[in-house]
Amino acid sequence: MKNSAPLAPALDSPLSILKGVGPARAQAFERQGIETIGELLFHVPRRVDSSGRACNLDEALACEGPETLILHGELSRKQFKRFGRRSTLRLTVTDGECELEVVYFNQPWQRERFERGEVYSFAGRLSASAKGPLMVAPKMAPGPNALEAGSWIPTYSLPKGVGQELVRSLLRLALDTLEAPLPDLLKAQELAALELPALSVAIEQLHFPQSLKEFQDARRRVLLQDLLMLQARVRLGAQVEPAPACALQIESSTPAQHAARLALPFVLTAGQQQILAQLVEDLAQPVPMRRLLQGDVGAGKTVLALLATSAVAASAGQCAFMAPTELLAEQHYESSRRLLEAAGLRCALLTGSQPNALRNLTSKGLAAGDIDIVFGTHALFSKSLRYKRLAFCVIDEQQRFGVAQRARLLEKGGAAHLLLMTATPIPRTLALTIYGNLEVSILREKPAGRGPIKTRWLRAKDGARLPQFLAERMDAGEQVYWVCPRIGAQEDGGAEAAFERLSNSDLAKHGTTLVHGQLKPEVRAERLDAFRRGEVQLLIATTVIEVGVDVPAATVMVIEEAERLGLAQLHQLRGRVGRGGKRSWCLLYGKPTARERFELLEQCDDGFVIAEEDLRRRGMGELAGLRQSGELGGMLTSLEDDLDLLLAARELLSTRPELGPQLLRPGP
Ligand code: ADP
Ligand code: MG
Repeated sequence: MKNSAPLAPALDSPLSILKGVGPARAQAFERQGIETIGELLFHVPRRVDSSGRACNLDEALACEGPETLILHGELSRKQFKRFGRRSTLRLTVTDGECELEVVYFNQPWQRERFERGEVYSFAGRLSASAKGPLMVAPKMAPGPNALEAGSWIPTYSLPKGVGQELVRSLLRLALDTLEAPLPDLLKAQELAALELPALSVAIEQLHFPQSLKEFQDARRRVLLQDLLMLQARVRLGAQVEPAPACALQIESSTPAQHAARLALPFVLTAGQQQILAQLVEDLAQPVPMRRLLQGDVGAGKTVLALLATSAVAASAGQCAFMAPTELLAEQHYESSRRLLEAAGLRCALLTGSQPNALRNLTSKGLAAGDIDIVFGTHALFSKSLRYKRLAFCVIDEQQRFGVAQRARLLEKGGAAHLLLMTATPIPRTLALTIYGNLEVSILREKPAGRGPIKTRWLRAKDGARLPQFLAERMDAGEQVYWVCPRIGAQEDGGAEAAFERLSNSDLAKHGTTLVHGQLKPEVRAERLDAFRRGEVQLLIATTVIEVGVDVPAATVMVIEEAERLGLAQLHQLRGRVGRGGKRSWCLLYGKPTARERFELLEQCDDGFVIAEEDLRRRGMGELAGLRQSGELGGMLTSLEDDLDLLLAARELLSTRPELGPQLLRPGP
């Protein structure tokens, strides 16, 4: 046993070796998949932001847009208004010549911080308003030049209860005390050819960049490392033949028997039956299944995964059903448990935001084998979680998981069967590169009784008729989604602003509610339930509802600022309507810059055709579907920009095969 004197951390030291990380924090980090110093160092920031550019008021007034500006001025006016629970604090800042408006919405405490006649520094962006440029909710420090300009600050995906500042200080501590510098297996000339820094430099610059370029290069070096490991595993996997045997023999009854067991409220389509037969056959094999199921939005993939889980559970194997967002995991759990429990199977839900007591209960149940099927987010694969006999993993919307996350999940899966599902097709060659051996099934037809969806790009003049149209649909008992890409508030535009506006319009009598990713899960679930039950007919939401939400009475989807969303995402969103056999509409508001995208959606409602078209247009399309969501930690990157790295990783490993085992060797 090592003595208890403070140790210099090594890559594989537990996080708790760092001062400031006690058991509770260690547990919180674990939920994000961070348990060792190495995992902390390789935790890639979700983004970096410039602390801002310092400028004078008159320069600033000309710079509306996304850039963060730092300026100062004297407070010449201060006005505070309250409307019920909402409030507005309006400030006017001047340098003697120009004036700038600064506004804080719903932060009544802010008014205490400002005194007329004093000078303040602000950091924020300028947005346009009817009355001229406006700085909404900027960062403030009293005095002139009181905010630092010109540095770059990373933001991490973090578990609840862990702050950005804490992570930054832990990273500093780890980097300053690390036992040995990180070795780089790549040679100097290999790095030079790729124009990338060495790993130890990259790790420093990933977390403490001096410029955006430094951060971007560092991120690419770290990504390359992950891709090298991934490729090394794929190569290794390809050599080990046959694959590890399954721990459990799955009983091979007929698809019909499995379907009967779940007492489905509908009949499977021919395509579904065929794929189910394939799954049942795969599961009965002594080698683990590795299958990717592709099918357009609403094609009915979930039920196939459920039938497969019930087959596995019937043979006493445990199943893990993973989704990329908590919302989707909850939806799957809520909509599936009735069927599964009626068939005598025990279900549970496990997500990062559940209270500890509940999580512990589920962990115990999984370890003891008291739970047959667990639904959840990537918390399902945290290292400390033990399954009694995990036999089958389902990963829904798999394209939303990061490359490296998928690699880790595959590892966790071990000898378990694996079913990946996606609505975004991936070309087979690319799938092979990323996953090694993978069979692909395609679900082409959709269940009968689906109403057609009419998609229209609305011009401003159509807007006047929209309320009337929506009122008619809702009078007929139908329901409406109103989607805004941004949360936003008030003048800023976005879901909160739309909610405010619609709740004060004639449409409010049909009931309105608001759902976005920053709500507490209980609140969000409650509001969605009210919509699902039809008590509320108009749901205003961000794209959190992109996947999973299933309300047959919803027939209209309105999307604001649609130019901010990609084709695949728009298609996925519109798949929320047209689920109940009634005629449905998808109405897009968006800038003409995205005209081509809107016209394609107007003409075509087949997700595969759209994906292919999307690929063709962007040239690099193989990579559609590998885009990643910003909602998870881990290696978040768009492979579109980093395809060259994937290819470089392949090339490096084939010219220097000895790298493979070196990469996979556990750290010192
Ligand atoms: P996706 O493939 O996008 O994941 P889902 O599995 O969520 O689609 O299915 C969409 C809806 O279609 C669900 O409400 C599901 O119950 C329903 N569904 C699935 N299969 C059938 C079928 N054969 N007949 C009728 N409805 C079906
Ligand atoms: Mg689905």
